Amino acid sequence: MTANLLEFDLEGLAVFCEGLGEKRFRATQLFRWIHQRGASDFDQMSDLAKSLREKLKSTAHIAALPVVSQHISQDGTIKWLFDVGDGNAVESVFIPEDDRGTLCVSSQAGCAVGCRFCSTGHQGFSRNLGTAEILAQLWFAEHFLRRHLQTDERVISNVVMMGMGEPLQNYTALIPALKVMLDDHGYGLSRRRVTVSTSGVVPMIDRLAQDCPVALAVSLHAPNDALRDSLVPLNRKYPIDELLQACERYLAHAPRDFITFEYCMLDGVNDQPEHARQLIELVQRHGRQGLRCKFNLIPFNPFPASGLLRSPQARVQAFAKILLDAGIVTTVRKTRGDDIDAACGQLAGDVKDRTRVQERMAQQRSAEIIRIRPVSN
Ligand code: SAH
Ligand code: SF4
Repeated sequence: MTANLLEFDLEGLAVFCEGLGEKRFRATQLFRWIHQRGASDFDQMSDLAKSLREKLKSTAHIAALPVVSQHISQDGTIKWLFDVGDGNAVESVFIPEDDRGTLCVSSQAGCAVGCRFCSTGHQGFSRNLGTAEILAQLWFAEHFLRRHLQTDERVISNVVMMGMGEPLQNYTALIPALKVMLDDHGYGLSRRRVTVSTSGVVPMIDRLAQDCPVALAVSLHAPNDALRDSLVPLNRKYPIDELLQACERYLAHAPRDFITFEYCMLDGVNDQPEHARQLIELVQRHGRQGLRCKFNLIPFNPFPASGLLRSPQARVQAFAKILLDAGIVTTVRKTRGDDIDAACGQLAGDVKDRTRVQERMAQQRSAEIIRIRPVSN
């Protein structure tokens, strides 16, 4: 079995090249071929000596994940389902907007946290993805989109680790993947445009601050421990106060001067005015003048096994107004790609479920209008 070069950040690739008796700077050339040019064939790499190309062919490969399916939504959102072996699949979603192109990336097959409102959580945990499997999602999507749009310019300007899985429970594989996203010889994304979303693995938030401080989103979903315990089971291990203290510490290292709190609006569960008032009190209690944060209210995307319902729009607006009136920046997330089950928390990775989506896709195929444009920044 030869090494998949998508497994390495630049430092790792330099070590690999040294192992082949090559100078470290060769790694930079190779790295740029892979990530900036999307090359997977060593013979394409015309500025590498033939002898090196031959050595690479016998010791390494560059492999994407097999694509099980690709669905394109009416709104231009694209969802890919990738096969990661043993009957497991993970999903990535590309979300085009006027001023950016965001890729939502998975970190695990399934998830061990088991949040009540999350379809991935209901599926249970299969396994961690390796660095190569995390990066293969970006590598494939970026170069697919460039070919599709016939552009040499970068299409994906933002990455959010908000697909399947809890990224901070797959820390060792996550960090090199983030480094490749940030590397000027890789994808060259700024730290502000790479977001790790976590359900609150407190010790790993501290490590992330040291090892690779990118933008942080914390899935809060409840203003008190009793309610959060029932929605996000990890709260029993790392309760809200500890989590918010970790957020405070993270701010000293963060590329943005706020933490984003995600809050999934569940009908009759966490969407009452009283909950909004408790949130304000909570935020004001932390930090010197209150914790610097933004709230992103997510309309719940229902799935049958959850037994939960989406809060009515008026209630979401009323909730947002209470936070806004207290001076807390609050946005309501637009749902994107829900016609292809690509919206938050709908990622299931269960290949058996796909028939329904595929039927719908067949109807839609004639209307495959993709409104995506390359973004430069
Ligand atoms: N495990 C990480 C990242 C993946 S989930 C985390 O929990 O943060 C990404 C976001 O989608 C989280 O904020 C999560 O709470 C939200 N989400 C999960 N299921 C959802 C659903 N059914 N509807 C809306 N948002 C959901
Ligand atoms: Fe895991 Fe995040 Fe889903 Fe919770 S919301 S089960 S942490 S993927």
